[in-house]
Amino acid sequence: MGNSVSSHGGTDPGTIANGITEKDYTLKISQYMHERLNDLGIENSMTRTSDETLSPSVRPDRAQSFYGKGNDVILVSNHINAGGAEVSLHMLN
Ligand SMILES: [Zn+2]
Repeated sequence: MGNSVSSHGGTDPGTIANGITEKDYTLKISQYMHERLNDLGIENSMTRTSDETLSPSVRPDRAQSFYGKGNDVILVSNHINAGGAEVSLHMLN
């Protein structure tokens, strides 16, 4: 099981540089990951599917609402920083 997290969103745009707004690209990356994981038969959910403002505490709460916080739950967080794309994995327990 897993959760694909599209970081930032809504009033939190993340990094804005060279005409790119981080929240828009992290959402696109997360949607792509969501579809690929589905194609591979790997259960997953997204913590946001639109341009929505989520506080840092809401993200893990929302992820836990899908699958709980067992050892088989991985939270994937997507960012695009100055150094490039960053994908971090987190355990919820
Ligand atoms: Zn970021």
